[in-house]
Order: sequence, then C-alpha cells, then structure tokens
Amino acid sequence: MNYISTRDNSLVKKKYLSAEAIKLGLASDGGLFIPEEIPQISNEFITSLVPLSYPERAKKVLELFLTDYTDGELRECCERAYNETSFVGGCAPMKKITDSLYSLELWHGPTSAFKDMALQIMPKLLSKALVKTEETRTALILVATSGDTGKAALEGYKDAEGINIMVFYPNDGVSRVQKLQMASQTGDNVNVCAIYGNFDDAQNGVKAIFSDAEFAKQANEKGVILSSANSINWGRLVPQIVYYFSAYADLLANGEISVGEKVNFCVPTGNFGNIFAAYIAKMMGLPVGKLICASNANNVLTDFLTTGEYNRNRKFMSTISPSMDILISSNLERLLSFVCGTDKTRAYMSSLSKEGAYKIDAEDLAKINETFCGLWASEEETAETIKRIYEEYGYLIDTHTAVAVKSAIEYMSKENDGRITVAVSTASPYKFAADVYASLGEDKPSDDLDALDLLSEKTGAAIPYPLDGIASRAVRFTYSTHPENMPKEVLAYIDSFAK
Ligand SMILES: *Cc1c(COP(=O)(O)O)cnc(C)c1O
Repeated sequence: MNYISTRDNSLVKKKYLSAEAIKLGLASDGGLFIPEEIPQISNEFITSLVPLSYPERAKKVLELFLTDYTDGELRECCERAYNETSFVGGCAPMKKITDSLYSLELWHGPTSAFKDMALQIMPKLLSKALVKTEETRTALILVATSGDTGKAALEGYKDAEGINIMVFYPNDGVSRVQKLQMASQTGDNVNVCAIYGNFDDAQNGVKAIFSDAEFAKQANEKGVILSSANSINWGRLVPQIVYYFSAYADLLANGEISVGEKVNFCVPTGNFGNIFAAYIAKMMGLPVGKLICASNANNVLTDFLTTGEYNRNRKFMSTISPSMDILISSNLERLLSFVCGTDKTRAYMSSLSKEGAYKIDAEDLAKINETFCGLWASEEETAETIKRIYEEYGYLIDTHTAVAVKSAIEYMSKENDGRITVAVSTASPYKFAADVYASLGEDKPSDDLDALDLLSEKTGAAIPYPLDGIASRAVRFTYSTHPENMPKEVLAYIDSFAK
C-alpha cells in the first residue's frame, strides 16, 4: 500500500511507503499523507475480531495499512504498546449508559487521556521505520506542549530505540498536576525543560528550531535528525482506526447488535484526527451510520458542517474542555482531499492560510453530510451533562466526553435515530478533576491536586494509576530557561547523547 500527499495534483503522484510517511510526518509540498486507496473489509473480517484481544485486533487492522512492516514487527509493536501494565482496565472498554447510548473509554493508558491510544504505539512504529529506511542518525523529537500532549509523548517515546525526546512547556501555562507529571518523567532518552513564558513562546521556539537550516546542519553533523510527534503524522492517525472496529466487535460479542447493523459514533473533536479515523473505518466497510462531530464553544466545525464555510476568523475561547480549544482542525484537510479532490483542497488550504476561511461547494457539503453532522455544547451544557449523567446513571465523565454525550443525546432525539450511538470518551474525569467536581455543583477547588481527592471522596470512583500518588513522585526535571535559549538547550542535550 502506498501513501500520497493531500496536495499532490500531478498526473503521476509521488508515492511513499508507510515507513517513509511515518518518518517524514509531512509531505514536502506541505500536504498530509493519505493512503492511495482504502483497504476493503468483509463481514467475516469483522466477526473474526470478536474473540481477539485488543493488541490482536490492532494488528489485524494495522497490517491492512502498514504493508511494508513484517508480521513479526507489527505483532511486537501492538503487544508492547497495548499491554495490561500500561492500559489498566482494558485498552478501549465499552460502557453502557442507556440501551442506545454507549461510552467508548479511551483513557485507560499511562496519561489517562486518549492521546495514549496513538502515542503508545507510534514511537514503536517510528523506531522500526528508522531501521526500515536505513536511517543511521538518531531521531530527536521536539515537542512544545500546553500540558497533556507533552506528557503523552514522553510516556510514548520513553526508551524507544534510536529516538530521544525533549519537551518544552510554559512555566505559567500548565497546571500543578501537569507540571508534576512531566517533572517526574522516567526514561533514559527524555528531557523536559520549562520556559519562562506562555505556550506560544514555547511553540514559536520549537518552530524556529525546526525551520532553522543551520541548526539542522549542526544536528546532522552530530548524527541527529529532528522530528516531531505531531498529531497530523499518519503514524498517529492509523492506530485510531482500530478502536472503532474494537467497539463494534464488543457490541457484537455482547449480542447488542447483529453483523451488518449500523452504529453511530459521536466524537469530541479538536484537530479532527479522532473522528477522521472513524471515517476511514466506515470507508473500509465497518457498518457506521452517522458520525457526529461534537465541538465546544470553539464551534468552527459545527458551522462548517452546517454551511460549508470554514472560518477561523473568530474569537478563541478558553473552555473547560481545553484539548478541543482549536480554531484550525488540521486533519480536516484529509477529509477534503477524499471528498473534493486535490485541486480544490490545495485552493482551500491556500485560502485558509491567506484569509483564514474557505467555502466548499454545495454538492461536496451534501456528500460530507451523508456521513457527518456537527453539534456543539456550551460551557453550561457541558457542566449540566456531567451532573445529569452522574446523577441519573451513576456514570462519571470528564468535560470533553460531556461535550460528546450532550451532542449524542441531542442527535438521537432530534433525528429520531434508533440506532446505537457510541459517545467516544477521551479523558478520565480525574484528568480534569477541578472542573468535573465543580460541574457536580461543588465549589471549584483552586488547586487541581486537591481536586483529585475531593472528587474521589465525593463519587467513590478510584483515581486512575497515572494520577494516583502524583505528589509523592521523585522529581527529575526542574530546569527553566528563557525562550531565546531554547536552541542552546537542545544542542546541549544533543551533546549529552550523540555518539
Ligand atoms: C486531543 C483531544 C481531543 C480532540 O481530538 P482530535 O483528534 O484532535 O479531534 C478530545 N479530547 C481530549 C481529551 C483530547 O486530548
């Protein structure tokens, strides 16, 4: 199977193997990698997944896309990524809320949020990709984080072969729990550095290093190639297809549906990666009805799916579901290239970067609306949903999941759709404990470390292992620096491990 760029409109498109796509991250024309064709599966394929474990299911889906990896390589990656020590309580368990509403819990990994589903396996795929492409240099992953992605990347890349990782976070921009999580990170190939400044300072610093040819040359001389753990990398997207198959297989296993019956998924959306993976599953032949794209108050996607106009020229809102506070959903480009074709996609992306907006044709919107609809939840509705689902069903959800559950319920009642709808649950309620606690009608705790205990005392739900006892962990990284020193810090780190 070959990969092409979403922006390649030449007659004979440039083709890449999956290992190359994973190593490169972004195509040289600025586009994202997509498979040249979508593998098609049968009902027998779906039923064959039913008796399998999650890592076995993952291997069966991944081998359809990563055809240049050997059977043994994929098995090893899946088994090492999705094991019971990292994912306590299952990799992607389904919880029944009502007869027609389910929750797909994707947060049982080492950072209690769904980014682990991809970031636990992607570094293993990258390590193999480096060997397969005969790369002799060490890859150094640079990450600027506002908190959660940095920790998930550190957990994923720690001890990955042939790779080192360095994470920058803003001193003023992360919570106490997030700071402790990163400062206590284990692993011999990791480094963490705080920046005096905000997230933009950290991100601009990393971007400047990536675009500095002189820096790349210096790194290269030391046998180091810079790389990113960006969410638009195909290696982060492809593992996300797996859990839609796994959810369907679990519904079959429990006799909740029969083979071929369609199921809806409602996904709390930011960068459009998670929901796009569901769309690929549908294109492969998984019986999916509607994909409900759930947004918070940053509802650019709701407007796009209603009017066909994508317009980022609006106020950025800081919400209680911060991982969805995004005005440019990068992975939407992949959907556009499938539906509208490469020529239009290039024009739309150029208009987005110049004017911050574009509008797709009515017939393309109609095609998209056959599968996708967009709904959103305000801050009040999000909090109300947490309270209501806890009080009526005894089920505690986080602020992101609440956006999805609110949208799922709204969709089911508006459209009178009797199909089973699965709300995708992307974070443990403990990951956003202070806002979840406040949503239950209590005063919001000022310290998010206290919020963990308060929420546990109130609900009796267990604190997941990644957050339990965090205050007493050994702190390894206490270093802070000014943004202008970032290149110097990276070079010093390179000197500490370069051969
Ligand atoms: C990243 C994230 C999302 C958004 O997922 P996308 O793939 O960017 O759409 C939703 N919820 C949580 C908790 C996240 O961390």
